[in-house]
Amino acid sequence: MVKSKSGLAIQLSKLRTFEKPKMELEQYPTESEIAAEILWFAGMNSDISGKVIVDLGCGTGVLGIGALLLGAEKVVFVDIDADALKICRENLILVDKELAEKAEFVNKDVKDFDFKADLVIQNPPFGTKQKHADVIFLETAMKTAPVIYSFHKLETRQFIDDYAARNGFKATHFWTFDWPLKMALAFHRKRIERIKVGCWRLERLKSDARSLQKSI
Ligand code: SAH
Repeated sequence: MVKSKSGLAIQLSKLRTFEKPKMELEQYPTESEIAAEILWFAGMNSDISGKVIVDLGCGTGVLGIGALLLGAEKVVFVDIDADALKICRENLILVDKELAEKAEFVNKDVKDFDFKADLVIQNPPFGTKQKHADVIFLETAMKTAPVIYSFHKLETRQFIDDYAARNGFKATHFWTFDWPLKMALAFHRKRIERIKVGCWRLERLKSDARSLQKSI
C-alpha cells in the first residue's frame, strides 16, 4: 500500500507503457502524475478502498494498478488489445505479486463488456480516430457502476455534461490538465505536444432526484 500521493506517482512512473502504440485505438497513456492526482482524490473520497473497480480501456494499467495500490478489493482490467493487456499484467506483477490475485483481465471490446461494479475509472479514446468511441465507453461505464472517473478532451465538456444528465448522472467534481502527448505515437512528433483534457467524477442520481431533474 502507498502512503502518499507522491509515493503513488513514483510507483506508477515505473510502469512500462505501450511498446508500439496503435494509432487506430488511440493509445495515449495517462501520465503518472495525473493518474496519481485523480486516484489520490478518489481514495480520499472513499471511492476506492474495498471497492470492486473496472478499468475500461486499461491499456498498460496505470489507473487500475493505482487503484489496487490504494486498497481496491478487486480490479477488472478491460482492453480490446491483447498486447496492452499483457504489459498490464506484467506491470502489476512487477509492482506487487500479491495484488495480482485481486485482478482480472478481460480482452474485449468495451461495447461487449457486461458487469456490475462499484466504480469505473477510464481514460478512453478521445474519439478522434474511432468516431464516438468516447460515447461507447461512457455508455458502458454508466451501465457498469454508479460512480465514474472519466477523462475526455476539454472541448467536449458541454457534450459530456449533457450526456450525463440525459442518462441520470451528474458531475460532482471536475479537473483540467495539460495533457502531454509524449511517447505515444511519437513517430511523427519530436516535441511534446499538450492538449487540454478534463477529468469528470460522475455519479448516478438517486431515482427521486432523477424525476425532479426531469420535471425542471
Ligand atoms: N487507460 C490507459 C490507456 C488509455 S489509451 C491509460 O490511462 O494509460 C485508450 C485505451 O483504450 C487503449 O489501451 C486502447 O487499446 C483501448 N481501447 C480502444 N478502443 C477500445 C474498445 N473499443 N474496447 C476496449 N478497449 C479499447
